[in-house]
Amino acid sequence: MYAGFGTQETSDPGQRRGCIEVVCGSMFSGKTEELLRRVKRARLARQRVLLFKPRIDNRYDDVKVVSHEGIKAEATAVSSSSELASFVDRENAAASAARPHVVGIDESQFFDDGIIAVAERLANEGLRVICAGLDQDFRGQPFGPMPALMSIAEYVTKLHAVCTRCGAAACRSQRLVGTEGQLFVGGAADYEPRCRRCFVPGVVDVEAGTSRGMGAG
Ligand SMILES: [Zn+2]
Repeated sequence: MYAGFGTQETSDPGQRRGCIEVVCGSMFSGKTEELLRRVKRARLARQRVLLFKPRIDNRYDDVKVVSHEGIKAEATAVSSSSELASFVDRENAAASAARPHVVGIDESQFFDDGIIAVAERLANEGLRVICAGLDQDFRGQPFGPMPALMSIAEYVTKLHAVCTRCGAAACRSQRLVGTEGQLFVGGAADYEPRCRRCFVPGVVDVEAGTSRGMGAG
């Protein structure tokens, strides 16, 4: 499916062809695994990869990107799109042989909207930018910069989890605990993947909540 990826590199760093790839989907759809799979392939091709994650996400590890399956890779935690840009620019100023080829970004939905222009610029400068993230929040609404990133991307991969209720392909993340705000950082206990039909938008699911001793919320 991605036969073309990784073959676009030329020997002359000045001729690098940049692009934006988005890997999105609900929670438990394998976004991070897919990001790390692409990162691993790039490294096998001896390409230099910079991997980032938003500092807000302390779910598993401060300096690693870790998938739900436990696959991990070293990452740099940044607080904003401008911090990410500065970091990449610093690395890009190095001698051409040491310059990065790939920028991977996990949990892209948590970045400020500046990430859209940053991704665009880095791709224009010849970098392959891979943005993984949730395309929808717990209300089923487009999440942060993801819709714009998907629009400007060359390649968009939408992954699906399995609906915990009916087994269909799941595109939504059902929140099971009551907390405020769109930002949601949680593990397996706080959310479950649901299909369109089984998803209850923006509310704590009563039945699941009760079964977990959370009350009716
Ligand atoms: Zn379902």
